[in-house]
Amino acid sequence: MEKIKQDILNCRRCPLYKTRINPVIGEGNLRAKILFIGEGPGASEDQTGHPFIGRAGKILDELLDSAGIKREDVYIANILKCRPPQNRNPQKEEIEACTPYLLKQIETIKPEVICTLGNYSTAFIMEKYGLGEKVQGISKIHGKIFDVSKKPEQVPLLCLDNEGDEKEYSDEVRYFGSSNGLKIIPLYHPAVATYNINMKGTLKEDFKLLKSFK
Ligand code: URA
Repeated sequence: MEKIKQDILNCRRCPLYKTRINPVIGEGNLRAKILFIGEGPGASEDQTGHPFIGRAGKILDELLDSAGIKREDVYIANILKCRPPQNRNPQKEEIEACTPYLLKQIETIKPEVICTLGNYSTAFIMEKYGLGEKVQGISKIHGKIFDVSKKPEQVPLLCLDNEGDEKEYSDEVRYFGSSNGLKIIPLYHPAVATYNINMKGTLKEDFKLLKSFK
């Protein structure tokens, strides 16, 4: 993870590094069974470099608490490591540029469950794991458990070296995820409960599913 961190700190793969204060690499237990994947840093995360510490973060903390899960037992990352200006939606090119880091994090942590928070991370992760045909809007598929059956796929994980040239992450043959028994659970992004308080109940109901994985 240290190597991934250094690569993200030096990253110039998309223009977002120019406007962010700190990249938000992700944090938590490197042996977590549950990996949460949000969208991208907001203002508080950009200022501090920590994921989900603003308003959406407070709701995530409450949801974890309601399921009896400690934040330090899970790992929390995002699709984008750098804040999009004005918290706009991630763009396709930014997702393409940034996600090799996320894939590398997944490969390092080897979670049993990936909880995708919101539409962007759900679509990205489900497609990566061969579930592209099952992707629907988050209101349709939140709280469903998807078993990954796709065989691990070898993906080149490219990043920039110090000269700015793309290089493969390592000389070893790399496999993406150990999809053996991996489950994907799409969830609403906790931020929905900041503008619609009724959604908190739905989120809490979905978080109950996670009790069996902690
Ligand atoms: N929203 C996200 O998707 N990620 C964060 O880290 C904070 C807010």
